[in-house]
Amino acid sequence: MSKIHYKNLEEIEKIRESDLLVSKTLAEVAKIIGEGVKTIQLNKLAEEFIRDHGGVPAFLNYNGFPYSLCISLNDQVVHGFPGEYVIKDGDIVSVDCGVVLNNFVGDSAYTFPIGNVDPETLRLLKVTKECLYLAIDKAVVGMRVGDVGYAVQQHAEKNGFGVVKELVGHGVGFKLHEKPEVPNYGRRGSGIKLEEGMVIAIEPMINGGKGGVKFWEDGWTVSTIDKKPSAHYEHSVAVKKGKADVLSTFQYIEEVLKQKD
Ligand code: MG
Ligand code: MG
Repeated sequence: MSKIHYKNLEEIEKIRESDLLVSKTLAEVAKIIGEGVKTIQLNKLAEEFIRDHGGVPAFLNYNGFPYSLCISLNDQVVHGFPGEYVIKDGDIVSVDCGVVLNNFVGDSAYTFPIGNVDPETLRLLKVTKECLYLAIDKAVVGMRVGDVGYAVQQHAEKNGFGVVKELVGHGVGFKLHEKPEVPNYGRRGSGIKLEEGMVIAIEPMINGGKGGVKFWEDGWTVSTIDKKPSAHYEHSVAVKKGKADVLSTFQYIEEVLKQKD
C-alpha cells in the first residue's frame, strides 16, 4: 500500500470502537494473567471475548499468523506465539491485540509484570511506557513522523536502553498495517508531516540491553540478541491539532491490575 489513507471524524469514531474492544480484551487478559497460567489460555480468552462482542481477531491468519494474540515473553520483543508455556513469577509478558469490528481495525499492546520482577526490568517497563506517552505528545498537526521517533529514542537511550529499529509503528484503521511507517527512532523535523485524519499505531519496542534483535525460524517471533528483556506498549492515536486523540486506553487494564494488587 503506497499512500496514506486519511480518516474522517465518523471513521475515527468507528476506529475508537474497535480500539475500545481491544482495550477491554486486554483487561480480560489482565484478569487472569499470572503465575501458573499457560499463554494459550490468554489467547483463547481473548478470541472468545472479541467474538462475543461482534469482533474478529485482527491478527488471526494475518499473513498466516496462527493466533489471536501475540504473546512475547521476557527477551521476546514482539510476535511471539501463545502456547504451552506456563507463566512464572518474575516474567514479563507482552500482549499485543488487534480487533476488526465493523470493518475498522484497532491495535494496542501492554507488557505485564508477573509477581516479583527485578527492579531493572520494572524500570524498563516504566521507561517504555513513558516513551509511548512522550511520542503521543508529538502526534499533533505540524509535527513529523521523525519527531515521534525522536521522542521515543531520546527517552529510551537517555535511560540506557536500546531501541528496536527493525520493527516500526504504522498507520491503522482501515487495515491493520497502513502507511506511514512510524519508527521508534528519528530526527526531529524529518519524515512525513502529521496531518488531521491520520491514525497511527505508536508502539515503542525497547530492550533492556542493546537494540539488536533476531528473527526466529518460526517466521514470527522476534527476540533480543543479548537475551535481555524487552518491553512493548502500543496505542492507536488520531493526529489532532494541539493534542493527540488516543483511541485505545490502558485504563481498564490498570483498574484490573490495581484490584489484583
Ligand atoms: Mg499491536
Ligand atoms: Mg501495531
